[in-house]
Amino acid sequence: MLSYTKFLKDSLDPSIYNQGLRIYLQGGVSNPTSLVLDNWRLYTVIERNYYHQVKLPLLHLALDQSKFQDAYKCIREVAQCDCEYFAEHGLCRHIVAVLAAIEKEFNQTTELTRQAPPKEDILDSIFTAQKVKVHRKWLATMDTLLQSASNNYYHLDKISKAVKEEPGEHGDFFQQLSTILEPHVGLYSKEKRILKIALESILIGKYQFWNFFLPIVFRFDEDLQLQFWINMWKFYWMGACEGYKDDVVSHLRELPRDQKKQVLEALLQEYARQKELYLEFCFVSRYYIYLMENKEVLSETDLIRLTEHVPDMREDTDIVLSGHLRTWSDFLKAGEYQDFLKIVHLWSDKLGKSEIFVDTLKYIIRSHPKKKSLTRKLQDLI
Ligand SMILES: [Zn+2]
Repeated sequence: MLSYTKFLKDSLDPSIYNQGLRIYLQGGVSNPTSLVLDNWRLYTVIERNYYHQVKLPLLHLALDQSKFQDAYKCIREVAQCDCEYFAEHGLCRHIVAVLAAIEKEFNQTTELTRQAPPKEDILDSIFTAQKVKVHRKWLATMDTLLQSASNNYYHLDKISKAVKEEPGEHGDFFQQLSTILEPHVGLYSKEKRILKIALESILIGKYQFWNFFLPIVFRFDEDLQLQFWINMWKFYWMGACEGYKDDVVSHLRELPRDQKKQVLEALLQEYARQKELYLEFCFVSRYYIYLMENKEVLSETDLIRLTEHVPDMREDTDIVLSGHLRTWSDFLKAGEYQDFLKIVHLWSDKLGKSEIFVDTLKYIIRSHPKKKSLTRKLQDLI
């Protein structure tokens, strides 16, 4: 077996060697990760709260036995550490620490004794420290986005995705983020930028960002709040609010009437041809006034749906429906009654059989004696 510590001791600066050994003995070498390349491993080495990544091959497996005398040369060529010392001088104490760990793992005769804390503790602390590192990077990204007018959200999307995939793991990040954002709330131009960041991260990162940004948005300039709700409606319409859909709905319902009106006006302007998009907004946000004032643009289904919510308009609705169905029945082709009957059923199921309903059916039966299969079905409904 190749003795790692021996060839290091023979060739390396003794102070580096001793420092490395000490790190190992203090439990600073993490469990390894195997890399894709055969016999290569990745280690995290912890030294006084600093973390270093060491990558190297298991020399005793990767190197031909006849070349063991070149082990030192070889390790100098291939081992890597991300510390500053390594970048300047090559082989560092972290690599020594890792090699000591490998020696202990594979060479049973070694005298090295490891006095490490239990492994799980090490892993926990590695994990925590890596998270802190990641969060620091994320916060720097957020800060840059706040300072610049950049619309490049590549990094933001990556952050949002990570948060979405690890719910409950990033409370610290959000806490610090709110400290970063706080001084900017109240400044219109900054709020505008926060709004963009908020919308993008909500779209990708979903409810955790929604929960985070909502109280901040409520403190924004009214015009920006309006922009927020217009966009949240679009997300909802696109089906992009999974996980917090009901919450969005209840907030839309609670918007002051005036704000609902403004959202609707913006939608009408932008989506004039997409009637369903803005009518659905009225239904979901319970902004019924617009629907009542524009009964004539509603489909039969929507009219029935609206009347369910506003029973007072029952009579008006009945008259409109009656007119629609009478006219419609004149144009029905033999045998193609399905859609027509669906509406008739919906009318009676949702709103009950009023006098107007019954009269309408009787009228259609009288007017179309030849459409036997239709009139039979209508007769059953009276
Ligand atoms: Zn190093």
